[in-house]
Amino acid sequence: MIYLDNAATTPTDGDVLNAMLPYLRENYGNSSSQHSAGRKAAGALLCARDKTARILECRPEEVYFTSGGTECGNWAVKGVCAAHGKGHLVVSAIEHPAVLESAKDMQKAGFEVTFVLPDGNGVITPQAVERAIRPDTVFCAVMHANNETGVIQPVEEIGGLCRERGIFYYCDCVQTAGVLPLPVKHCDALAISAHKFYGPAGSGAMYIKEGANIQRLISGGRQERAQRGGTVNVAAAAGLAAALEKAVQNAQFNGEKIAALRDVFVEKVINGIDGARVNGGGAKLPSHANISFDGCDGENLLFLLDLEGVAVSTGSACSAGAVTPSHVLTAMGLSESAAKSAVRFTFGKYNTGSEVEKAYQILKTCVNKIRNLKK
Ligand code: PLP
Repeated sequence: MIYLDNAATTPTDGDVLNAMLPYLRENYGNSSSQHSAGRKAAGALLCARDKTARILECRPEEVYFTSGGTECGNWAVKGVCAAHGKGHLVVSAIEHPAVLESAKDMQKAGFEVTFVLPDGNGVITPQAVERAIRPDTVFCAVMHANNETGVIQPVEEIGGLCRERGIFYYCDCVQTAGVLPLPVKHCDALAISAHKFYGPAGSGAMYIKEGANIQRLISGGRQERAQRGGTVNVAAAAGLAAALEKAVQNAQFNGEKIAALRDVFVEKVINGIDGARVNGGGAKLPSHANISFDGCDGENLLFLLDLEGVAVSTGSACSAGAVTPSHVLTAMGLSESAAKSAVRFTFGKYNTGSEVEKAYQILKTCVNKIRNLKK
Protein backbone atom coordinates (compact mmCIF):
# COMPACT_ATOMS: atom_id res chain seq x y z
CA MET A 1 0.00 0.00 0.00
CA ILE A 2 1.11 3.55 -0.72
CA TYR A 3 -0.16 5.38 2.34
CA LEU A 4 -0.95 9.02 1.59
CA ASP A 5 -3.36 9.61 4.46
CA ASN A 6 -0.96 10.66 7.20
CA ALA A 7 -3.26 13.47 8.39
CA ALA A 8 -5.85 10.81 9.29
CA THR A 9 -3.41 8.77 11.32
CA THR A 10 0.21 7.63 11.27
CA PRO A 11 1.76 4.25 12.00
CA THR A 12 3.25 3.92 15.48
CA ASP A 13 7.01 4.45 15.41
CA GLY A 14 9.02 1.45 16.70
CA ASP A 15 10.79 3.56 19.35
CA VAL A 16 7.40 4.80 20.59
CA LEU A 17 6.07 1.27 20.83
CA ASN A 18 9.15 0.27 22.84
CA ALA A 19 8.53 3.18 25.23
CA MET A 20 4.98 1.93 25.80
CA LEU A 21 5.44 -1.83 26.11
CA PRO A 22 6.79 -1.94 29.70
CA TYR A 23 3.54 -0.34 30.93
CA LEU A 24 1.42 -2.90 29.10
CA ARG A 25 3.51 -5.87 30.27
CA GLU A 26 5.47 -5.89 33.53
CA ASN A 27 4.66 -2.40 34.93
CA TYR A 28 0.91 -2.61 34.61
CA GLY A 29 0.00 -1.00 37.95
CA ASN A 30 -2.79 1.56 38.31
CA SER A 31 -1.14 4.95 38.71
CA SER A 32 -3.60 5.78 41.53
CA SER A 33 -2.72 2.67 43.57
CA GLN A 34 -0.59 3.12 46.66
CA HIS A 35 1.49 -0.06 46.43
CA SER A 36 4.83 -0.20 44.66
CA ALA A 37 3.35 -1.31 41.31
CA GLY A 38 1.06 1.73 41.41
CA ARG A 39 3.88 4.03 42.42
CA LYS A 40 5.95 2.76 39.49
CA ALA A 41 3.11 3.61 37.12
CA ALA A 42 2.68 7.01 38.80
CA GLY A 43 6.41 7.62 38.30
CA ALA A 44 6.10 6.84 34.60
CA LEU A 45 3.15 9.19 34.34
CA LEU A 46 5.16 11.92 36.05
CA CYS A 47 7.98 11.43 33.52
CA ALA A 48 5.55 11.56 30.58
CA ARG A 49 3.96 14.74 31.95
CA ASP A 50 7.32 16.41 32.60
CA LYS A 51 8.57 15.55 29.13
CA THR A 52 5.37 16.80 27.49
CA ALA A 53 5.47 20.02 29.53
CA ARG A 54 9.12 20.63 28.69
CA ILE A 55 8.36 20.31 24.97
CA LEU A 56 5.23 22.45 25.17
CA GLU A 57 7.12 24.97 27.33
CA CYS A 58 4.53 24.99 30.06
CA ARG A 59 4.28 23.70 33.64
CA PRO A 60 3.63 19.97 34.21
CA GLU A 61 0.49 20.96 36.17
CA GLU A 62 -0.85 22.52 32.98
CA VAL A 63 -0.77 19.19 31.07
CA TYR A 64 -3.80 16.87 31.20
CA PHE A 65 -3.70 13.47 29.49
CA THR A 66 -6.87 12.71 27.54
CA SER A 67 -8.18 10.20 25.01
CA GLY A 68 -7.29 12.46 22.07
CA GLY A 69 -8.22 15.54 20.09
CA THR A 70 -11.95 14.91 20.15
CA GLU A 71 -12.12 14.81 23.94
CA CYS A 72 -10.01 17.97 24.15
CA GLY A 73 -12.33 19.84 21.76
CA ASN A 74 -15.38 18.78 23.76
CA TRP A 75 -13.68 19.71 27.02
CA ALA A 76 -12.65 23.16 25.80
CA VAL A 77 -16.04 24.17 24.40
CA LYS A 78 -18.26 22.57 27.04
CA GLY A 79 -15.92 23.27 29.96
CA VAL A 80 -15.80 27.00 29.25
CA CYS A 81 -19.57 27.13 28.72
CA ALA A 82 -20.10 25.32 32.04
CA ALA A 83 -17.82 27.83 33.76
CA HIS A 84 -19.80 30.81 32.42
CA GLY A 85 -23.39 29.53 32.29
CA LYS A 86 -24.26 31.86 29.42
CA GLY A 87 -22.61 33.85 26.69
CA HIS A 88 -21.44 33.96 23.09
CA LEU A 89 -18.90 31.74 21.33
CA VAL A 90 -16.76 32.54 18.28
CA VAL A 91 -15.85 29.39 16.39
CA SER A 92 -14.16 29.11 13.02
CA ALA A 93 -16.27 27.37 10.40
CA ILE A 94 -13.32 25.15 9.44
CA GLU A 95 -12.81 23.53 12.86
CA HIS A 96 -12.78 19.77 13.26
CA PRO A 97 -16.21 18.29 14.13
CA ALA A 98 -14.92 17.81 17.71
CA VAL A 99 -15.26 21.57 18.14
CA LEU A 100 -18.04 22.32 15.64
CA GLU A 101 -20.41 19.69 17.00
CA SER A 102 -19.63 20.68 20.59
CA ALA A 103 -20.45 24.29 19.71
CA LYS A 104 -23.74 23.15 18.15
CA ASP A 105 -24.52 21.19 21.33
CA MET A 106 -23.94 24.39 23.32
CA GLN A 107 -26.18 26.31 20.90
CA LYS A 108 -28.97 23.88 21.76
CA ALA A 109 -28.23 24.53 25.44
CA GLY A 110 -28.80 28.28 24.95
CA PHE A 111 -25.39 29.69 24.04
CA GLU A 112 -25.10 31.87 20.96
CA VAL A 113 -22.42 30.93 18.42
CA THR A 114 -20.93 32.89 15.51
CA PHE A 115 -19.22 30.64 12.96
CA VAL A 116 -16.45 32.63 11.27
CA LEU A 117 -15.87 31.96 7.58
CA PRO A 118 -12.38 31.70 6.08
CA ASP A 119 -11.21 33.70 3.06
CA GLY A 120 -10.77 32.01 -0.32
CA ASN A 121 -7.34 30.71 0.69
CA GLY A 122 -8.78 28.96 3.73
CA VAL A 123 -7.45 31.49 6.25
CA ILE A 124 -9.48 32.73 9.22
CA THR A 125 -8.29 36.32 9.38
CA PRO A 126 -7.89 38.18 12.69
CA GLN A 127 -10.17 40.86 11.20
CA ALA A 128 -12.96 38.33 10.69
CA VAL A 129 -12.55 37.10 14.26
CA GLU A 130 -12.56 40.67 15.56
CA ARG A 131 -15.80 41.40 13.69
CA ALA A 132 -17.44 38.36 15.29
CA ILE A 133 -16.43 39.21 18.87
CA ARG A 134 -19.17 40.73 21.05
CA PRO A 135 -19.13 42.16 24.56
CA ASP A 136 -20.54 38.86 25.86
CA THR A 137 -18.09 36.59 23.98
CA VAL A 138 -16.58 34.09 26.40
CA PHE A 139 -14.85 31.61 24.08
CA CYS A 140 -13.04 31.52 20.74
CA ALA A 141 -11.74 28.52 18.78
CA VAL A 142 -9.51 28.81 15.73
CA MET A 143 -7.30 25.83 14.93
CA HIS A 144 -3.53 26.05 14.34
CA ALA A 145 -3.70 24.42 10.90
CA ASN A 146 -6.63 22.94 9.09
CA ASN A 147 -6.72 19.16 8.75
CA GLU A 148 -8.14 19.15 5.21
CA THR A 149 -6.13 21.89 3.49
CA GLY A 150 -3.10 22.14 5.79
CA VAL A 151 -3.49 25.94 5.75
CA ILE A 152 -1.77 27.51 8.78
CA GLN A 153 -3.86 30.05 10.66
CA PRO A 154 -2.72 33.39 12.20
CA VAL A 155 -3.19 32.05 15.71
CA GLU A 156 -0.76 34.41 17.47
CA GLU A 157 -2.77 37.46 16.36
CA ILE A 158 -6.08 35.80 17.13
CA GLY A 159 -4.77 34.77 20.55
CA GLY A 160 -3.70 38.37 21.15
CA LEU A 161 -7.16 39.69 20.28
CA CYS A 162 -8.75 37.26 22.72
CA ARG A 163 -6.28 37.98 25.50
CA GLU A 164 -6.93 41.76 25.24
CA ARG A 165 -10.64 41.10 25.71
CA GLY A 166 -10.42 38.37 28.36
CA ILE A 167 -11.85 35.74 26.00
CA PHE A 168 -10.81 32.08 26.49
CA TYR A 169 -8.89 31.05 23.36
CA TYR A 170 -8.71 27.35 22.43
CA CYS A 171 -6.29 26.30 19.71
CA ASP A 172 -6.63 22.82 18.18
CA CYS A 173 -3.02 21.86 17.43
CA VAL A 174 -3.77 18.26 16.47
CA GLN A 175 -2.30 18.67 12.97
CA THR A 176 0.67 20.79 13.99
CA ALA A 177 2.13 19.13 17.09
CA GLY A 178 5.55 17.73 16.23
CA VAL A 179 5.60 19.79 13.03
CA LEU A 180 5.49 23.47 14.05
CA PRO A 181 6.26 25.33 17.29
CA LEU A 182 2.97 25.48 19.19
CA PRO A 183 1.31 28.77 20.26
CA VAL A 184 1.24 27.89 23.96
CA LYS A 185 1.96 31.46 25.02
CA HIS A 186 -0.94 32.78 22.94
CA CYS A 187 -3.80 30.56 24.06
CA ASP A 188 -5.64 29.41 27.17
CA ALA A 189 -5.84 25.80 26.05
CA LEU A 190 -4.55 23.67 23.20
CA ALA A 191 -4.88 20.07 22.11
CA ILE A 192 -2.49 17.49 20.70
CA SER A 193 -3.16 13.89 19.67
CA ALA A 194 -0.43 11.23 19.59
CA HIS A 195 -1.63 9.25 16.58
CA LYS A 196 -0.96 12.21 14.30
CA PHE A 197 2.77 12.14 15.15
CA TYR A 198 3.57 8.41 15.08
CA GLY A 199 2.18 7.64 18.53
CA PRO A 200 -0.84 5.55 19.56
CA ALA A 201 -4.45 6.44 18.74
CA GLY A 202 -6.67 7.22 21.72
CA SER A 203 -3.97 9.25 23.44
CA GLY A 204 -4.00 13.03 23.63
CA ALA A 205 -3.01 15.87 25.87
CA MET A 206 -4.57 19.20 26.64
CA TYR A 207 -2.60 22.19 27.81
CA ILE A 208 -4.74 24.37 30.06
CA LYS A 209 -3.20 27.61 31.27
CA GLU A 210 -3.03 27.81 35.05
CA GLY A 211 -6.03 29.73 36.41
CA ALA A 212 -8.04 29.54 33.15
CA ASN A 213 -11.79 29.62 33.70
CA ILE A 214 -12.88 26.13 32.59
CA GLN A 215 -14.71 23.27 34.26
CA ARG A 216 -13.97 19.58 33.87
CA LEU A 217 -15.75 17.47 31.27
CA ILE A 218 -15.34 14.02 32.83
CA SER A 219 -16.31 13.63 36.46
CA GLY A 220 -15.01 10.68 38.40
CA GLY A 221 -11.97 9.89 40.49
CA ARG A 222 -9.28 12.38 41.37
CA GLN A 223 -7.04 11.53 38.43
CA GLU A 224 -5.41 14.42 36.54
CA ARG A 225 -5.73 16.65 39.62
CA ALA A 226 -9.46 15.86 39.78
CA GLN A 227 -10.01 17.50 36.40
CA ARG A 228 -10.39 14.35 34.29
CA GLY A 229 -11.75 11.25 35.96
CA GLY A 230 -10.81 7.76 34.81
CA THR A 231 -7.83 5.42 35.25
CA VAL A 232 -4.99 6.97 33.31
CA ASN A 233 -3.64 4.99 30.37
CA VAL A 234 -0.01 5.15 31.41
CA ALA A 235 1.30 3.34 28.33
CA ALA A 236 -0.59 5.80 26.11
CA ALA A 237 0.81 8.79 28.01
CA ALA A 238 4.35 7.38 27.81
CA GLY A 239 3.79 6.81 24.09
CA LEU A 240 2.54 10.34 23.54
CA ALA A 241 5.54 11.86 25.31
CA ALA A 242 8.02 9.64 23.44
CA ALA A 243 6.36 10.33 20.09
CA LEU A 244 6.22 14.07 20.70
CA GLU A 245 9.87 14.17 21.73
CA LYS A 246 10.99 12.28 18.63
CA ALA A 247 8.75 14.30 16.30
CA VAL A 248 10.01 17.62 17.67
CA GLN A 249 13.65 16.51 17.53
CA ASN A 250 13.26 15.53 13.87
CA ALA A 251 10.74 18.18 12.84
CA GLN A 252 13.04 20.13 10.56
CA PHE A 253 14.53 17.10 8.80
CA ASN A 254 11.17 15.35 8.37
CA GLY A 255 9.39 18.57 7.43
CA GLU A 256 11.84 19.29 4.62
CA LYS A 257 11.74 15.70 3.37
CA ILE A 258 7.95 15.51 3.46
CA ALA A 259 7.48 18.92 1.81
CA ALA A 260 9.88 17.92 -0.98
CA LEU A 261 7.86 14.74 -1.66
CA ARG A 262 4.58 16.65 -1.55
CA ASP A 263 5.88 19.41 -3.85
CA VAL A 264 7.12 16.93 -6.47
CA PHE A 265 3.74 15.19 -6.37
CA VAL A 266 1.75 18.43 -6.70
CA GLU A 267 3.91 19.64 -9.57
CA LYS A 268 3.42 16.36 -11.44
CA VAL A 269 -0.33 16.46 -10.87
CA ILE A 270 -0.78 20.09 -11.88
CA ASN A 271 1.36 19.72 -15.00
CA GLY A 272 0.28 16.23 -15.97
CA ILE A 273 -3.46 16.07 -15.23
CA ASP A 274 -5.83 18.57 -16.86
CA GLY A 275 -8.37 20.29 -14.64
CA ALA A 276 -6.52 19.69 -11.36
CA ARG A 277 -6.53 22.58 -8.86
CA VAL A 278 -4.92 22.87 -5.45
CA ASN A 279 -7.26 24.03 -2.69
CA GLY A 280 -6.05 26.43 -0.03
CA GLY A 281 -3.31 29.00 -0.33
CA GLY A 282 -0.56 30.72 1.64
CA ALA A 283 1.47 29.05 4.37
CA LYS A 284 0.72 25.33 4.64
CA LEU A 285 1.88 22.29 6.54
CA PRO A 286 4.57 20.31 4.68
CA SER A 287 2.36 17.23 4.45
CA HIS A 288 -0.87 18.37 2.84
CA ALA A 289 -2.08 18.57 -0.76
CA ASN A 290 -5.81 19.02 -1.26
CA ILE A 291 -6.64 18.83 -4.96
CA SER A 292 -9.91 19.08 -6.91
CA PHE A 293 -10.21 17.19 -10.19
CA ASP A 294 -12.72 18.62 -12.67
CA GLY A 295 -15.31 16.11 -13.75
CA CYS A 296 -14.43 13.59 -11.04
CA ASP A 297 -16.16 12.57 -7.89
CA GLY A 298 -13.68 12.47 -5.01
CA GLU A 299 -15.35 9.46 -3.41
CA ASN A 300 -15.12 7.47 -6.65
CA LEU A 301 -11.51 8.48 -7.01
CA LEU A 302 -10.79 7.37 -3.45
CA PHE A 303 -12.28 3.94 -4.08
CA LEU A 304 -10.46 3.47 -7.41
CA LEU A 305 -7.17 4.54 -5.83
CA ASP A 306 -7.78 2.15 -2.96
CA LEU A 307 -8.29 -0.72 -5.41
CA GLU A 308 -4.91 0.18 -6.88
CA GLY A 309 -3.27 0.28 -3.44
CA VAL A 310 -3.15 4.03 -2.78
CA ALA A 311 -4.75 5.29 0.45
CA VAL A 312 -6.09 8.87 0.45
CA SER A 313 -9.11 10.64 1.89
CA THR A 314 -11.79 13.17 1.03
CA GLY A 315 -13.28 15.71 3.38
CA SER A 316 -16.76 14.57 2.51
CA ALA A 317 -19.00 13.20 5.19
CA CYS A 318 -21.31 10.27 4.63
CA SER A 319 -24.56 10.49 6.49
CA ALA A 320 -27.80 8.63 5.88
CA GLY A 321 -26.36 7.25 2.63
CA ALA A 322 -25.79 10.71 1.13
CA VAL A 323 -22.40 12.32 0.63
CA THR A 324 -22.13 15.91 1.82
CA PRO A 325 -19.17 17.92 0.54
CA SER A 326 -16.44 19.08 2.88
CA HIS A 327 -17.57 21.84 5.25
CA VAL A 328 -14.08 23.32 5.00
CA LEU A 329 -13.98 23.61 1.22
CA THR A 330 -17.53 24.91 0.95
CA ALA A 331 -16.81 27.50 3.67
CA MET A 332 -13.87 28.64 1.52
CA GLY A 333 -16.33 29.33 -1.30
CA LEU A 334 -15.84 26.24 -3.48
CA SER A 335 -18.93 25.12 -5.36
CA GLU A 336 -20.53 21.86 -4.24
CA SER A 337 -19.18 20.02 -7.30
CA ALA A 338 -15.62 21.40 -6.88
CA ALA A 339 -15.69 20.45 -3.19
CA LYS A 340 -17.00 16.97 -4.02
CA SER A 341 -14.22 16.50 -6.57
CA ALA A 342 -11.49 17.07 -3.96
CA VAL A 343 -9.08 14.49 -2.64
CA ARG A 344 -6.64 14.99 0.24
CA PHE A 345 -3.14 13.53 -0.12
CA THR A 346 -1.07 13.76 3.05
CA PHE A 347 2.56 12.67 3.09
CA GLY A 348 4.53 11.31 6.01
CA LYS A 349 8.03 10.38 7.11
CA TYR A 350 7.83 6.82 5.78
CA ASN A 351 6.89 7.84 2.20
CA THR A 352 9.50 7.60 -0.56
CA GLY A 353 10.18 9.27 -3.90
CA SER A 354 9.33 6.11 -5.81
CA GLU A 355 5.95 5.96 -4.04
CA VAL A 356 5.28 9.53 -5.19
CA GLU A 357 6.01 8.65 -8.81
CA LYS A 358 3.90 5.48 -8.63
CA ALA A 359 1.00 7.24 -6.87
CA TYR A 360 1.01 9.95 -9.53
CA GLN A 361 0.88 7.40 -12.38
CA ILE A 362 -1.96 5.50 -10.68
CA LEU A 363 -3.85 8.74 -9.97
CA LYS A 364 -3.60 9.85 -13.58
CA THR A 365 -4.99 6.51 -14.79
CA CYS A 366 -7.84 6.64 -12.24
CA VAL A 367 -8.81 10.23 -13.12
CA ASN A 368 -8.88 9.34 -16.83
CA LYS A 369 -10.94 6.22 -16.13
CA ILE A 370 -13.59 8.23 -14.26
CA ARG A 371 -13.69 10.96 -16.89
CA ASN A 372 -13.97 8.41 -19.74
CA LEU A 373 -16.82 6.62 -17.99
CA LYS A 374 -18.73 9.90 -17.88
CA LYS A 375 -18.43 10.48 -21.65
N1 PLP B 1 -8.72 18.04 15.47
C1 PLP B 1 -8.13 17.88 14.27
C2 PLP B 1 -7.65 19.08 13.53
C3 PLP B 1 -7.99 16.61 13.71
O1 PLP B 1 -7.42 16.47 12.51
C4 PLP B 1 -8.47 15.49 14.43
C5 PLP B 1 -8.40 14.13 13.86
O2 PLP B 1 -8.49 13.94 12.68
C6 PLP B 1 -9.05 15.72 15.69
C7 PLP B 1 -9.16 16.99 16.17
C8 PLP B 1 -9.57 14.57 16.50
O3 PLP B 1 -8.48 13.92 17.12
P1 PLP B 1 -8.63 12.43 17.66
O4 PLP B 1 -8.61 11.54 16.47
O5 PLP B 1 -7.41 12.25 18.53
O6 PLP B 1 -9.88 12.36 18.44
